[in-house]
Amino acid sequence: MSLSVPTLNVLVVYAHPEPTSFAAALKERAVADLTAAGHRVEVADLYAEGFDPVAGQGDFLERADDTRLHMQREQLHAVQTATLAADVRRELDRLEWADRVVFVAPLWWFGLPAMLKGWVDRVFVFGRVYGNGLTFGTGPLRGKKAMLALTTGGPQAAYSEGGLHGPIETLLHSVQHGVFRFTGMEAVEPFLAWGAGWVDDARREEYLDAFSARLTSLAYDEASAA
Ligand SMILES: Cc1cc2nc3c(=O)[nH]c(=O)nc-3n(C[C@H](O)[C@H](O)[C@H](O)COP(=O)(O)OP(=O)(O)OC[C@H]3O[C@@H](n4cnc5c(N)ncnc54)[C@H](O)[C@@H]3O)c2cc1C
Repeated sequence: MSLSVPTLNVLVVYAHPEPTSFAAALKERAVADLTAAGHRVEVADLYAEGFDPVAGQGDFLERADDTRLHMQREQLHAVQTATLAADVRRELDRLEWADRVVFVAPLWWFGLPAMLKGWVDRVFVFGRVYGNGLTFGTGPLRGKKAMLALTTGGPQAAYSEGGLHGPIETLLHSVQHGVFRFTGMEAVEPFLAWGAGWVDDARREEYLDAFSARLTSLAYDEASAA
């Protein structure tokens, strides 16, 4: 049996306000490893690029209905008439270009930081990324794989069965199921850098090496194994 690793388009959606954060180190590791492996890598650096995460009427260059804002109806209209706001259009192009999508961010309030959640709110538009019965197995993003890469404040034990917060899988279900799988993507196992702010440097180095291994398997396309 031969193993095939095709050249892939990888989008790293990165949301942290501090360039020296550990989340930034994970992002940089992803860029370095995936580029060295021959993949095409695009980084959506949401804070540095000044992405506006607030969904609303600014998402549309024209309105189907000026009397009241129905987001999904306007998203569909904007898709059909090519009138999505330029920043949404650009991010949607990035998403559709990607074979693999990696979200790199800290865990904030048991979920995605508002910057990254807002990117999803604005970019995963009805009529293009989901909708009209196209979800899960028929979702428009099928064929892509998505991975969360998150840093946490709390230790792994707190996010385990019987731990203070319960299993991390429960907290991340809204993204794994409600965003990734819902739109047709394969949600791969999340990468977690537990207690990134209080573990020692040696442990952080281990996290980076473990992340490298996960990136390698993310890029490996089992379907192409012959
Ligand atoms: C609004 C808010 C909500 C939060 N909610 C939660 C929550 O719900 N659950 C939870 O568990 N935590 C929560 N936290 C804590 C948060 O998740 C952690 O502070 C964060 O994940 C730590 O990761 P970071 O990338 O911000 O690391 P930082 O704190 O920026 O960095 C950690 C350390 O890594 C070092 N470092 C940077 N680069 C490298 C490198 N290349 N090699 C080695 N070390 C490096 C830095 O110098 C620093 O010492 C919350 C924090 C905030 C602000």
